[in-house]
Amino acid sequence: MQAIGYYNGEYGPLEEMKIPMLDRAVYYGDGVYEATPTRNGIIYALDAHIDRLYRSAAYLSITVPMDKQTLECELKRMVALMDTGDNVLYWQVSRGTARRAHPFPEGHANLMMMITPYTFPDLSEQVRCITREDTRFLHCNIKTLNLIPSVMAMQAARERGCYEAILHRNGRVTECSKSNVHILKDGCLISAPADNLILAGIARSHLFEVCGHLGIQVVERAYDVRELMEADEIFTTSSTSFIHRVTSVDGIAAGGRDSARFEALRDGVWGRFVKATDI
Ligand code: PLP
Repeated sequence: MQAIGYYNGEYGPLEEMKIPMLDRAVYYGDGVYEATPTRNGIIYALDAHIDRLYRSAAYLSITVPMDKQTLECELKRMVALMDTGDNVLYWQVSRGTARRAHPFPEGHANLMMMITPYTFPDLSEQVRCITREDTRFLHCNIKTLNLIPSVMAMQAARERGCYEAILHRNGRVTECSKSNVHILKDGCLISAPADNLILAGIARSHLFEVCGHLGIQVVERAYDVRELMEADEIFTTSSTSFIHRVTSVDGIAAGGRDSARFEALRDGVWGRFVKATDI
């Protein structure tokens, strides 16, 4: 099945869809977005993603052009159009369409959606990462379209044959280019606090829930690259990639010292997804 696109009520094959040149997403990245997997036609953690989209939009004074219930119906309609059960659903709301001028224009926001078939990643795979100075702005808690530093960081990782870039501000670990990063130390999970320096991932919240079931204490606090390198385990989480174990950072072996706990967490995160999307 080919991917499908949607823009303000119009559907079509994704590669054939066009959006207006004056959509503010094009020249300002003036919008917010969400992405989540679907399985068996079920959109994973839909309420949490919709709530975060409205929160992100509110931070930027963007009015989502429909209420939550209507948006939910539109998203479900997209999924129903696909004959593949496993997909990634992406949607974004931009501030609107107007000639280029910084102040907010009159008129309504634009809704864009795309759905693409997806093969879920192999979670038994161990991955390598690089570290990189976090040069993003100070509103990383808002899921905006302004992703250039993240794109550059991911590209740098890929050019070094790595899965992700672990970002830090002057040594303090924040997150990765498109995922959160966590460590295990002496049986506790340590994760950067949900402040303005990170996006509070939905998968991160699922991970914390799994920790609760397993009796693993969660400590949300700042930690630095030195602590990262000395951690028992290092791993990333995101909605579409779930959870990945990191065993090398900047070419140095790291983590990989608490297999039993990591595997229990990984099975818990994946099991939660399977349970929520089984029919
Ligand atoms: N951090 C960043 C910068 C991201 O872009 C993402 C996902 O896009 C995440 C974390 C993980 O968020 P979630 O678990 O909600 O997918």
